[in-house]
Amino acid sequence: MMRKPLQLLAALLVSALAATACGKEGSPPTKGPSGDELPKYQVAQGFSLPDSSTWNKARKRGHFVVGAKEDQPYLGEKNPANGVYSGFDIEVAKMISASLGLDPKKISFRTIASANRETALQNGQIDYYVGTYTINDNRKKLVGFAGPYYMAGQSLLVRTDEDDIHGPGDLAGKRVCSAAGSTPYQRIQADYPKAELVAYDTYSICVDNLLTFQVDAVTTDDAILLGFAAKAPDELRTAGKPFSEEPYGIGVPRSDNALRAAMNDALEARQKNGDWKRAYEATLGLSGVPAPKPPAVDRYPAN
Ligand code: GLU
Repeated sequence: MMRKPLQLLAALLVSALAATACGKEGSPPTKGPSGDELPKYQVAQGFSLPDSSTWNKARKRGHFVVGAKEDQPYLGEKNPANGVYSGFDIEVAKMISASLGLDPKKISFRTIASANRETALQNGQIDYYVGTYTINDNRKKLVGFAGPYYMAGQSLLVRTDEDDIHGPGDLAGKRVCSAAGSTPYQRIQADYPKAELVAYDTYSICVDNLLTFQVDAVTTDDAILLGFAAKAPDELRTAGKPFSEEPYGIGVPRSDNALRAAMNDALEARQKNGDWKRAYEATLGLSGVPAPKPPAVDRYPAN
C-alpha cells in the first residue's frame, strides 16, 4: 500500500511551494520550529511502572519506539535530509517519554499511516502512537487512548480560486480526497454520499492531487489542513467551519491500563507546568491559531 515515489513528489511539491511563498508580503511564517524555542523536557529520575509490559520492554531497550506521521506540517514532519521528526505530536511524544523516565532524545520514531495504526499497536511494532489520532469508541475496542491532548475538527482544503465549496453540503458531485482508515473519510462516506470520495494513504498525496487538479477538495482535521495552507498560502486555503470534534489521543496497547494512566498523569503535569503551551507555540501555533485551552484528559474505565 505504500506509494513512496508519489509521497516524495507530494512532499517536494509542497516544499517547493513553501519556498516560493517565503518572504512574500503578508504570507504567514513558513519556518519550522527551531531547536532553542522548543522546551527541554526533564527526564523523571527513579520513575518505575512495573505493571506496564510496554514500559518494561522499553526500559530494557533503553528507549521508546513511537509511531507518528511524517508529512503533516507543524504536527509530525520528517526532515528528508537528516531523518529528524518535528511538530506538535512529536513534542507530545517527547514530553511523555521524559515523564515516564526515558530520554526523549533516544525515541525511535516510525512513520505509520492512518489505516495501519491499530495493527501497529496490536502487534507490538510500536510502544505508543502520537499522530492526529482521534479517540472514538470503535477504536477503543482495538487500542487504548491516553488524553485527549488537543481538540481538532474536520474541515475542507480547497484551491484559493475555488468558488463552489463552502462546507460539506457543497460536496455533491465534487472529487474529495482523504486518507484511508481516517474518521474524516468515514464521515464523508456516511453523511455526504453524493461526494466522489477518493482515498490515499496520506494527506500529502491528497494535497498533491488538489494542486494538480485531480481532486476538488481535501478533507481531514483543521489542524492538518491549516498547516498545508500556511505552507502554500497563494495556492491553498481552508473552506467553511469545522464540522466535527476530533479529540486527539495517544494510542497505546489496549490492555496496558497502567501505561494509559501514567500518560494521563504526565499530560496533566505538562499542561500545568507550561510545557504543553510552549510546545504548541513553537510548532502547531506557527500555522496561525493561538494556543487553545487544552481539553481535560478522559480517564475512562478499563473495558
Ligand atoms: N483525526 C483523524 C483520524 O484519526 C484524521 C487524521 C488522521 O488520519 O490521522 O482519523
